[in-house]
Amino acid sequence: MSDMFNVLGLHCINCGRTYQPEVGLYTCPHCGEKEGILDVDYDYDYINRAISRESLRKNCETSMWRYRPFLPVNQEGELPPLRVGWSPLYEAKRLAQELGLKYLYIKDDGVNPTASLKDRASAIAVARALAEGAKAVACASTGNAASSLAGAAAAVGLRAFIFVPARAPQGKIAQLLVFGATVVSVQGSYEDAFRLSAQAIKRWGWYNRNAAINPYLVEGKKTVCLEVAEQLNWEVPDWVVVSVGDGCTIAGAWKAWVDLYRAGWIDRFPRMLGVQAEGCCPITRAFREGGKVRPMEENTLADSIAVGVPRNPEKALRAVRHSGGTMINVSDEEILNAMRLLGRTTGVFGEPAGVAGLAGLIRAVKEGVVKPQEKVVCLVTGNGLKDVANAIKATSAPLSLPPDMEKLALALKPLL
Ligand SMILES: *Cc1c(COP(=O)(O)O)cnc(C)c1O
Ligand SMILES: [Zn+2]
Repeated sequence: MSDMFNVLGLHCINCGRTYQPEVGLYTCPHCGEKEGILDVDYDYDYINRAISRESLRKNCETSMWRYRPFLPVNQEGELPPLRVGWSPLYEAKRLAQELGLKYLYIKDDGVNPTASLKDRASAIAVARALAEGAKAVACASTGNAASSLAGAAAAVGLRAFIFVPARAPQGKIAQLLVFGATVVSVQGSYEDAFRLSAQAIKRWGWYNRNAAINPYLVEGKKTVCLEVAEQLNWEVPDWVVVSVGDGCTIAGAWKAWVDLYRAGWIDRFPRMLGVQAEGCCPITRAFREGGKVRPMEENTLADSIAVGVPRNPEKALRAVRHSGGTMINVSDEEILNAMRLLGRTTGVFGEPAGVAGLAGLIRAVKEGVVKPQEKVVCLVTGNGLKDVANAIKATSAPLSLPPDMEKLALALKPLL
């Protein structure tokens, strides 16, 4: 596809075969859909002619498109209009202190247009769908990939067909319906929704936004760490903390550092800390035991990372291993504690999967995996308003009082 002047080709992470980008080519035909995950290779000379650390300083594009030469999209012409990315990176001093860390940064990706990091991948999906002349896009999702795709599609006038498991939280379903998508709530697990979507995509020829199957999506997700690098003035942190479901987010976050290194913009790597929920941790299990990922129940309230059959475990495991990082699990209780702590100390409200990373970081500091003087960036991947029911579970009830000053004084007494 000749609009991507910056892309040399795709290679299979399983067998190493290389391919030219082609409409409909998502996985390695030789290795099949499960193993044959593709990775995008860039022409770093092209990139370095098109963009530099200096040119970025003067670039006033406040979206992920400021890194267009690093992305598998047309290098000229129009891109989807929603403002995705360039989310704030906050130095979280009070939170750092509570954890016993010196340098802690929170990347709040809940501020994206549909309120999760998934917008970064859906922006690419819609850009590619337009470039390929598709009329409709489709995906199966635990919720956020769906709502982001529906929003991105609505912004450019594409139809969206969305498959979600019946358990998806109301907030995410509401988004889908408001964006005018055709929503199929599948009576079953995420795995069931995924399988049905794959068959429908094949049958009706929609553009496939399914995680992992589409190699371009991880490239969109990598912009989160291109931003982190720029926001830290190209000083590479010691750790990047990411919650893990399918594994695409951590793979994308890692790819940013790989691309920056290969382009000669940085000279070292961070370590990746991947965090899963105890009740659904097939990737952590494979990391610890070696060998292949085996399916697991989806038993956690962090719905966005409740992925029993992950779709991109190999890319995720490679990211963690190549970086010298590790995987860690957290309980639902630790996730809810992290939600409150983050809110109270930073003013950032994350959904359960959005704060699972922080919960894992807390544990990693306690266990001595992350050292007090190390510089840590923790991604908050989704906004808490998406799943209010669990946020209420995490907190205590408000003071309920009649409109009476005396009663108020009495109630506030122990708090003042
Ligand atoms: C999708 C998602 C994740 C995990 O990303 P994967 O690519 O599935 O590993 C984490 N947090 C939120 C809020 C998500 O929506
Ligand atoms: Zn292959």
